[in-house]
This record gives sequence, structure tokens and C-alpha cells, in this order.
Amino acid sequence: MNHQQAPNKTFQNLHINFVQSDLDAVLGSFNTVSFSGKSPIIKDYEKVIAKWFGTDLALACANGTIAIELALRSLEVGPGDYVALPPTAPIMTILPIITIGATPVFCDVATGSFSADLDHLSDLRSRYPIKALIVVPMWGYPLSMEKTAQYCKKHNIALIEDCAHAIGTKADGKYLGLFGDVATFSTHERKLVSTGEGGFCLVRDEIVYEKMLSWQHHGLVASNRDRQYRLGEAVGTNFKLSPLCAALGINQFNRLAQKIAERRERVTAMREQLADLSDIKEFDRFQSAEVNGYSMVFRYLGGSCRSKAAQLAARGVISDTTRYGYKPLYKEPAFVEYAEPCPNAEQLIETIFTVPCHEGLSTDDMSIISTAVHDIFGRKDGAE
Ligand SMILES: *Cc1c(COP(=O)(O)O)cnc(C)c1O
Repeated sequence: MNHQQAPNKTFQNLHINFVQSDLDAVLGSFNTVSFSGKSPIIKDYEKVIAKWFGTDLALACANGTIAIELALRSLEVGPGDYVALPPTAPIMTILPIITIGATPVFCDVATGSFSADLDHLSDLRSRYPIKALIVVPMWGYPLSMEKTAQYCKKHNIALIEDCAHAIGTKADGKYLGLFGDVATFSTHERKLVSTGEGGFCLVRDEIVYEKMLSWQHHGLVASNRDRQYRLGEAVGTNFKLSPLCAALGINQFNRLAQKIAERRERVTAMREQLADLSDIKEFDRFQSAEVNGYSMVFRYLGGSCRSKAAQLAARGVISDTTRYGYKPLYKEPAFVEYAEPCPNAEQLIETIFTVPCHEGLSTDDMSIISTAVHDIFGRKDGAE
């Protein structure tokens, strides 16, 4: 084994960076009066979330996958129902559809985009009574949301935004997460707000919110008789968040604007450093959209970039597409039975790679990354 060839530092889309105020927040949350998922800290956290987005109803929950399940259940999607999703989504987006007994239907993305192809959706609707659509803005890049939301409204389809990557990204002038009936977020370690495990939902409608809360709290319902919350009148389960995570989440939200600003600086710098490469092009951000810096996405104009991305990884710059073997979801063994031809998604997946831009990268790190991308994507020899 030649140890000299292994890069001594790797760069990827993961930056776990707790600071003292995070630790202080967690320590300060220990409370011997209330220390469950019903602790007032949870309500405080939900207020912080709602305020950050400028909306009213936020619900903290156990993780981002459960957030999607809560979204589906509260929108009354269940066995026998069809839920459309893009094949460009990760596995966490499809699992809850199947868990609740509904059937996933793959809707292609629009050309060169993670937005739903509404023509394909119309075609699917002629074959399946689609009850809900989940859209997934990957790596924090915006979608064409206004159009999608209008389409869903017109055709009475519930719209769920899986915004796990997209906290702080704006499209059509407003935050992603404010377009759908429910938006779901994850606070897993890879996400911009990180509580280890955790998630939350933004909900537009109060009745939907009550159903979500009930399912999450063992079927708790507000009794009409005495306006007390009662158990035993409905079925549910326990998907509550721990107050330790909520305390951490509050502090993480306090740091979020700064984090996004630092990431955007790196996005701008990397954009400039790679601007001379004519074979790659940053992913479409639409006109005035602001990305959150979850990760940068580039399209390779020369066809499949799988082997080039592997070469990048060998240089220590690990694209998410390489890290998790990105492929259309319906090519995973567990989901082949739902396969549906989605040529745009297939082409997109084959031709993109990600470049990290998190706040932990120094100027030197950025030039190492940029040099590697230049060496691999700047060559015209077609050596694949
Ligand atoms: C991380 C993620 C989720 C869910 O994540 P959890 O690990 O369950 O919190 C869902 N959708 C997308 C797109 C994700 O990236």
C-alpha cells in the first residue's frame, strides 16, 4: 500500500462544530421538574423555529424521517393513497410513504432541475389518483415553488416540502418551507441546524397541526367536554423530541444566520475560483434565489461525471453523489417495484457532483479543493 498517495485531509459535506454556547444551552436545559418531550423547552424551541421562518405553527419531532411521516398522516394520507416524489430524493423521503401503507409514485424532475416535472405529474395523475406530492430541494438549491404550489392547489394535491437540506434557502423571494401544506426538516448532524437526531415541521393549517400533535403525543386529543387534553380517545405514537436536543436547537437557530452568511462567502469564493472551467456549470439557482450553502452542486457538461467524481474523492474531495452512491431511488432494490421511467432524473444524477462549502473550510482548504477540481475537470483529454 502506498501511503503517500492517500490525501492527508478529506473534504466533504459534513461539519460538526459545536461551540461553548451550544454546550451551555444543553447544560442549562437540565431540569428536575420537567424533562420529557412535554418540557416547556420544546415549546420555546418551536417558537424560535416559527419566528425564524416568520410563520405560526412549528412542531419539533424525533427526526426528519418521522417529520415526513407526521406530514403524511396529518394530511390524512394512508393505505391505498398514492404519493408522488422525485427519484432524485434520498431514501429517507420514500420510507415514510411505505411505512404508512401508501404507494410511492415516481414523478420525474424538470430538465436540469430538482423541481417536479408538472407534465409528467399530469400524466401520472391520469393513471393514479395522486393525493400528495413531496418535493425535495437537494443540497439547498431552490425549486420552482410558486408554480408547483399553484399546480397542487388547482388539482387538490397536498404539497409537502422535504426541506432537510434547504433551511434558509429562498425561492421566489421567500423561504423554502413556506410554500407547501407542510414542510419537514431534519436536524441530523449533516444538516445546518444540528441536534444530533431531530426534526421539525412547519404547518400551515391549524387542524393539520392538531392531528400532527396528536399522533406524535400518543393520540392526545383536546376534549370538547372540558377543554383538557385526553389520552385514549385516539390512536397515535410517541415521536417527541428530547428537551436536550431542543435546547441545543434553540442555540443552533441563534447561530444559523451567521452560519449561512459564512457559507455564502465560501459559495461566492468557490464560484469565482471555478468560473474559468468551461466544462462545469453551477446548478441552476433561478433568477434571484439565495442558496443556504448546504453544499455546492455542479453539472458536468461532458456527460457522466461518475468517474471524475471518483477521481475527486481519491484527491480527498468527496462529492455526496460518490459518498452515498447516488442513483435514482427506483434503482435501489427495495423500491424497484415502483420504477417509472424518469429520464431527466437519470441524466441529472449521472452528471452532477457536489463540492463542500461549509464554514469549517479555510482559505487553504478552498484552494486545495479548487485545485483538485481544476486538475480533474479542466483536462480536455477525455481520460475517463
Ligand atoms: C436527512 C434527510 C431526511 C431525514 O433525516 P433524518 O436523518 O431522519 O433526520 C429527509 N430528507 C432528506 C432530503 C434528508 O437529507
